Amino acid sequence: MSQVLDGTVVRDQILEKLKLRVARLGRPPGLAVVLVGNDPASEQYVRNKILACQKLGIHSEKIMPALDSTTEDMLEVVEQINRNPKIDGVLVQMPLPKQIDAHRVLAALDPKKDADGFHPINVGHLVAGRPAPRACTPSGIIELLKYYRVKMEGRKAVVLGRSDIVGKPMALMLLQENATVTICHSRTIHLEDECRTADILVTAMGRPAIITAEFISPGATVIDVGTTMISDREDAIRLGKGEEFQKKGFAFVGDVHPLDARHGAGAFTPVPGGVGPLTIAMLMSNTVMLAEERQGVREAVRVSA
Ligand code: NAP
Repeated sequence: MSQVLDGTVVRDQILEKLKLRVARLGRPPGLAVVLVGNDPASEQYVRNKILACQKLGIHSEKIMPALDSTTEDMLEVVEQINRNPKIDGVLVQMPLPKQIDAHRVLAALDPKKDADGFHPINVGHLVAGRPAPRACTPSGIIELLKYYRVKMEGRKAVVLGRSDIVGKPMALMLLQENATVTICHSRTIHLEDECRTADILVTAMGRPAIITAEFISPGATVIDVGTTMISDREDAIRLGKGEEFQKKGFAFVGDVHPLDARHGAGAFTPVPGGVGPLTIAMLMSNTVMLAEERQGVREAVRVSA
């Protein structure tokens, strides 16, 4: 039976340490969360982020531009946040409506307030291996691997997915930990063979349960970022998620087949309860770090823009 890598334990430890750092600051750190429209899933994510701020004593502001906002409207919103002295970090909840140019909006953020680590300047710092706010999901995974003492140096890591928010930054962070990294995507040939070379397999595709035992090298550490909601009872039962479905009326499934992960891998993150809890913890961590920089409590972590 493989080891479960519990993200909630790692999250709690990160948040405990952050509480002490918040208490040392002259004024509470501030996070602005921008949510355009009223998509229920996005609203839930934003609620969770604001709740996490409240628990840590972080000041939060929720800004909700209208659903028909233009790129110019959004640039004005961002400019106001950039000027707001109470705000140290900002995140713009994605996806944005189609009429808004998300790249222009992200590029307009003050990189010194970029709590999500998506600003091109901070992405550049990541590529160059210099400290800067980093994308929250992959940086949470690095924390998890360190917490559970999973050796990365010299080991073969395979990342499935090449998105800007998970796959690419994940591969760069593993490289920085001296792993030998392969990135796979939808055009990769012989995906199964690539996966079987991995000591550490990180899947971020959003394709429920497609990673079965044949993809997993015996003893590998499997990190499942994928999160897909299953609303069909039969599907949930087939995937060993009957109990979760019974309680909630739906179940979350990762990219890794839940039953195969338990037997094939040496260690694995469950879905839910693995990677998910770490993302918000790292958002809080970035916000506190940016507040410390602005208040001069720590040296700026990167050269200015
Ligand atoms: P995304 O932007 O849709 O990217 C998916 C990536 O997977 C793409 O690079 C795509 O390849 C690749 N892919 C899709 N199907 C594939 C297949 N059959 N074989 C090989 N590669 C395939 O998704 P994302 O934003 O990175 O998110 C990925 C998953 O992680 C989603 O389920 C999302 O909900 C979840 N997620 C969870 C958290 C969390 O906190 N737990 C945070 C972020 C994301 P191409 O580039 O070739 O299209």
